[in-house]
Amino acid sequence: MLQRTIIDFHTHPWLPEHLARPTVDFIRSISLALREHGERLSDPVYAAGVLRVQGVEHAVVLPEHCPRSSGNVRTETVIEFCAASDGFFLPFASVDPNTDPDPAGMMRRYVASGVVGLKLYPSYQHYYPNDRRVYPIYEVCCDAGIPVLFHIGSSVIPNTRMKYCDPVHLHDIAVDFPDLVVVMAHGGRGWWYDACAFLAGHQPNFHIDVTGLVPSRLPELFPDLERLSHKIVFGSDWPAMPKSPRANADAIDAIEGLSLDAVQRILYDNAAALLRLDGRAAPAPPPIVDGGH
Ligand SMILES: [Zn+2]
Repeated sequence: MLQRTIIDFHTHPWLPEHLARPTVDFIRSISLALREHGERLSDPVYAAGVLRVQGVEHAVVLPEHCPRSSGNVRTETVIEFCAASDGFFLPFASVDPNTDPDPAGMMRRYVASGVVGLKLYPSYQHYYPNDRRVYPIYEVCCDAGIPVLFHIGSSVIPNTRMKYCDPVHLHDIAVDFPDLVVVMAHGGRGWWYDACAFLAGHQPNFHIDVTGLVPSRLPELFPDLERLSHKIVFGSDWPAMPKSPRANADAIDAIEGLSLDAVQRILYDNAAALLRLDGRAAPAPPPIVDGGH
């Protein structure tokens, strides 16, 4: 099997001093990379090297400003981490509408500092994505043309409130911000695979990131995987994962019945377009379901 180049749309920096204790304990309990490389992963140059040898060309790095639950890895920290990686790591922002006094203003400043997307954690930060308080943040992302990645699915993090990431609340965003690029991290893990597949299938700017899902189970979780492959990006949660990004990418490559073009879209092309790595705007995907009102 040809080793395909990967863009990893979903990694976290290993900065344990910024994470809540249960988050650190959980990551230590499952992370293969930490067992292999230990605290050297906190060095962005070393971390980039570990991923490069696995065929990863770029990786999105997510801050985690969730003072009520998982931790407080601030956007400034992630921008600094990425800046030291010679362009390998791409920074997203994280703002908390509940504890930041002016999250939209913050987001504007982060965009000016070079972030290429925003991660929101409704179930860790405790608000509904269609809460009108969040709308000014979406306006900033729309104007900047950058994606918003939502944590959508189950989690082991204490003080998680699952109701906030029910994907039905994302539908308002599709209606009110048709140009906003939305990525549903974890594809609704646990409860909402069908809802996420429906949204990604029907809303031109909605996508799924398969982070945290067992790759060989994807055809079972998303029965229309081949057609949905236009809307799926690869992510790993690295280093918080029991395998390596390479192993997960190869497992997607090995899915029976999935075309080589679909694999290429999932592992690389879709993310490159969303992140505008090729200098172009994201192409309009083909419709998945025809007609109907
Ligand atoms: Zn994650």
